[in-house]
Amino acid sequence: MNKKNKSLSKNQKLVLDFIQGNKKPVKAYSILSNVQKKGINAPPQVYRALDKLIEMGKIHKIESQNSFVACSTSDCETPHAIAFSICNNCDEVSEINDSKLFKYLLDFRDSNGVKFAGYNLEFFGICKSCEQIQKV
Ligand SMILES: [Zn+2]
Ligand SMILES: [Zn+2]
Repeated sequence: MNKKNKSLSKNQKLVLDFIQGNKKPVKAYSILSNVQKKGINAPPQVYRALDKLIEMGKIHKIESQNSFVACSTSDCETPHAIAFSICNNCDEVSEINDSKLFKYLLDFRDSNGVKFAGYNLEFFGICKSCEQIQKV
């Protein structure tokens, strides 16, 4: 597995650097305006880079926010099988790494017996630090 970023194109690297530099997920428009300053002017180029990075498992898309976040493991081996917990209060997003859950979902079939190739799960709740604030 390629753990370095050396196989990335210049555009992909710029986009990835920006996303990795942010703790919180970044919206597409904020990625666009940031990389524009660095020379990628065409939005389709940015979207292509995003698609490619998602495919490689370097970043993930948070569908409900239309935002992007860097993979918190070095590279997800299963970029099409991801789960996040999202705080309803502060929008803090963290990647869920629960082998029990993944094992369950791997064999999961719906009532018609359809097996799925991927999932993009988002769980909503209150994160630890918000919970603590609320207790005080
Ligand atoms: Zn990941
Ligand atoms: Zn929170």
